Amino acid sequence: MLQQTQVATVIPYFERWLERFPNVQTLADASQDDVLKLWEGLGYYRRARNLYKTAQIVAHKKGSIFPETYEDWLELPGVGPYTAAAISSIVNGEGVVAVDGNVKRVAARLFKLDVPEEKHVRELLTPFIPKKNPGDFNEALMELGATVCTKSSPTCLFCPVQENCQAFVSGEVEAYPKPKVKVARPHYERYALVHLKDDALWLRQRSEDEMLNGLWGFVLVDEQPKGAKLLPPVKHAYTHFSQTITPALAKTSSKIEGSYVKVSELDDIALSTLDHKILNVLKNQKLITL
Ligand code: SF4
Repeated sequence: MLQQTQVATVIPYFERWLERFPNVQTLADASQDDVLKLWEGLGYYRRARNLYKTAQIVAHKKGSIFPETYEDWLELPGVGPYTAAAISSIVNGEGVVAVDGNVKRVAARLFKLDVPEEKHVRELLTPFIPKKNPGDFNEALMELGATVCTKSSPTCLFCPVQENCQAFVSGEVEAYPKPKVKVARPHYERYALVHLKDDALWLRQRSEDEMLNGLWGFVLVDEQPKGAKLLPPVKHAYTHFSQTITPALAKTSSKIEGSYVKVSELDDIALSTLDHKILNVLKNQKLITL
């Protein structure tokens, strides 16, 4: 949950999650809809789906026994080198360096690297990881990056590794790492088809091969539907693109994939944040009561 998301945002989600899924078995036995509903609003839904798949593998194929090595952790869905290294060093005491964004920045300054690549950073730091409590080493490095060797104002004078830091010794801390070249994020203008009948909305559940798969939402189209009444637009940004969506009141749902969902039952399905924004427009326009 904490990947790409701040602690304060995560806490209530984490508490609700543990209450509903107190162990790997309860998560594995839940439905994907249940899992997505609890994740609703946290974004990056692939994390939830992977956690669910992982729980099913651990509970149904491994007798609820978690892996004990870095390599075995890596085989689980959603577990990359960072997560596998963090868990296997902290929980299993294996000497693998966990490289997150903070650690990359610290390494860039320690070794004067313009662009700190994950694999290279792991290779450079591996000789220093202790056999005893390797997890503490990883946590200390991450913490150093988060609190002392920060992005814009590192407090080098209080840094415990000052003497070993090549950038500090040569007085070039600001030069490392090199700033990333920002890539412009594309913006799209689209329409959400809003078809309302007998206090029910025409919605569809996103399929396996779509972004936000498993979540319900309005049907989005590129062209303005003929004769539709346009409502105030909403904006929403994802990591790789942003979009402005204009809700369009459509008279019919014919030929559009989906099904009617009663407004009173919207709480039972998982909707994306964008779809919640559209629902708010409908509420403000007094078309529905939430
Ligand atoms: Fe970072 Fe400064 Fe410490 Fe070097 S001396 S690791 S730049 S805080």
